Amino acid sequence: MANLSIHQFICRSDNFGVLLHDAETGATAAIDAPDEAAISAELARLGWHLTDILITHHHLDHVEGLPGLKATYGARVVGPKAEAGKIGHIDIAVEEGDAISFAGRAVEVLDVPGHTLGHIALHLPEEKLAFVGDTLFALGCGRILEGAPRQMWTSLVKIAGLPGDTSVYCGHEYTLSNGRFALSVDGDNEALIERMKEVEALRAADKPTLPTTIAEEIATNPFLRASAAAVKQRLGMASAAEVDVFARLRQMKNDFKG
Ligand SMILES: [Zn+2]
Repeated sequence: MANLSIHQFICRSDNFGVLLHDAETGATAAIDAPDEAAISAELARLGWHLTDILITHHHLDHVEGLPGLKATYGARVVGPKAEAGKIGHIDIAVEEGDAISFAGRAVEVLDVPGHTLGHIALHLPEEKLAFVGDTLFALGCGRILEGAPRQMWTSLVKIAGLPGDTSVYCGHEYTLSNGRFALSVDGDNEALIERMKEVEALRAADKPTLPTTIAEEIATNPFLRASAAAVKQRLGMASAAEVDVFARLRQMKNDFKG
């Protein structure tokens, strides 16, 4: 089976639009629906017809384009069961353990509550692809707006358990500011220092820093390094539980003025 084409672009101000396309069948999926006009323009430019919309969570900047795109293209909409009422327009409401497919490929649903309570991530194991919405970011993680730190931590650990060479697409381009915070709590991490040089160069050239990989995040993302001795010591939490270190990191990031 030929590889899927993936097209990623910025829309709104810092949201990512992502389109998946299978040339053999013509099937095309949008990951979330941040902006109807921007997504329609990219589809027209590429000559792709939208057949599927896969929604990660209910926030407006991920679903605002959904009604219009569905009406225009008649696309099948898959979204989180726990937020189906809030989102509307969902044809197939899913939760962890449900088996769906896109263009003949298996799509695994992961429940990743924390940013929102019904947030899901989508994993295509054969393609080594994951779409994690606003749960994990490059060098960061989403704010815990509805859940509790322990839920978010469990969700991040679940995502981090995917194969290391999985390409990870996230909802926003936040990497530069995330990286500044990461350096403030993990400044001796050589892999992080090197990565930030790359991130700064990419952003200076107005290029995206995504996708990332699971392995890269495990090595450099402070929120996945709550068990690292260097991070725990920096926070004065050398003997604390990982979940408590994570909760403290998340609070520090909320307050961080980088
Ligand atoms: Zn969100």
